[in-house]
Amino acid sequence: MKKHNYSAGPCILPQSVLNMAAAAVLDFNNGGLSILEISHRSKDFVAVMENARQLALEHLQLNDKGYTALFLQGGASLQFLMTAYNLLDKKAAYLNTGTWSDKAIKEARRIGEVVEVASSKEANFNYIPKDYSIPSDADYFHCTSNNTIFGTQMKSFPEVAMPMICDMSSDIFSRQLDFSKFDMIYAGAQKNMGPAGTTLVVVKNEILGKIKRDIPAMLDYKVHIAKDSMFNTPSVYAVYVSMLTLEWLRDLGGIAAIEQQNNAKAELLYNEIDRNPLFEGFVAKPEDRSAMNATFNLTDDGMKDTFDSLWKEAGINGLNGHRSVGGYRASMYNALPLESVQVLVDVMKMTENKA
Ligand SMILES: *Cc1c(COP(=O)(O)O)cnc(C)c1O
Repeated sequence: MKKHNYSAGPCILPQSVLNMAAAAVLDFNNGGLSILEISHRSKDFVAVMENARQLALEHLQLNDKGYTALFLQGGASLQFLMTAYNLLDKKAAYLNTGTWSDKAIKEARRIGEVVEVASSKEANFNYIPKDYSIPSDADYFHCTSNNTIFGTQMKSFPEVAMPMICDMSSDIFSRQLDFSKFDMIYAGAQKNMGPAGTTLVVVKNEILGKIKRDIPAMLDYKVHIAKDSMFNTPSVYAVYVSMLTLEWLRDLGGIAAIEQQNNAKAELLYNEIDRNPLFEGFVAKPEDRSAMNATFNLTDDGMKDTFDSLWKEAGINGLNGHRSVGGYRASMYNALPLESVQVLVDVMKMTENKA
């Protein structure tokens, strides 16, 4: 039986996507070949790549606005370095809201000066800093829209004069935003878009090519753009499954429709966390709570074994919190159905009744 999959990443994918992805491993497009054994230069795969790139731009409403979508490798972690390599001339401004922002800052410091405009590190990242100023001479401002580990999410973004770059790995395609406010968005596929192995980069073309550094080809966005995201062999299968997921999202009504579902799931779970005296949320202010990753603790450690065995018996997977936070984390990405959240809420009520 399929589990209720709360895994933080790689994570749940839509069942219909898994079925199509499984069939394509055996026979892709009725061509007598597996998707795993065709050339990335074949007509059929070039169409997949083009479709995936186009769908990504359409979902974000960035088609025909001077942006390019790329499917690269090396994860979001390589983007920490690549963004700085391509865009950091003298100084860049970073908002530090969690482990991933922290890592992005470390990589950028290899390239140039980094100003940390604000950080919630002293509170183990349990809130989003909001009062900060960004040096006007920064080459760009970098932020992380959703902090996967700590369960906080930026609900608004600053107005900035310089390019704004956002790591949206764990909430891309989950909610409506004015994506044209961002000059670059990147996201590892494995949180909300597909399997591990590819990273979506959406970049506004005009911000590139402004610094003089000699950029190694694989790290140069312009090289990947010139080759239509096929400078070297892309991760064919990961791009294919991402494309299927983007089609699934389109067919159910796009980001506007999934956002309503995501809000309903988050409301159901957070209401129970707030109502049930056995549980407490990790995030300090409700306004900063993530609709994707809900972090919470038991108020009575003596109930840990009861709760853990009840959720495992209910077929729930992946509820343990990240080691830097402890407790529990329920990752409610796009493909997780509301029914799975109801199962968790029922288990929380059952635990309360046994206390
Ligand atoms: C998981 C994650 C990353 C790291 O992604 P990789 O693809 O493993 O490099 C970066 N940023 C955020 C917000 C994440 O959730």
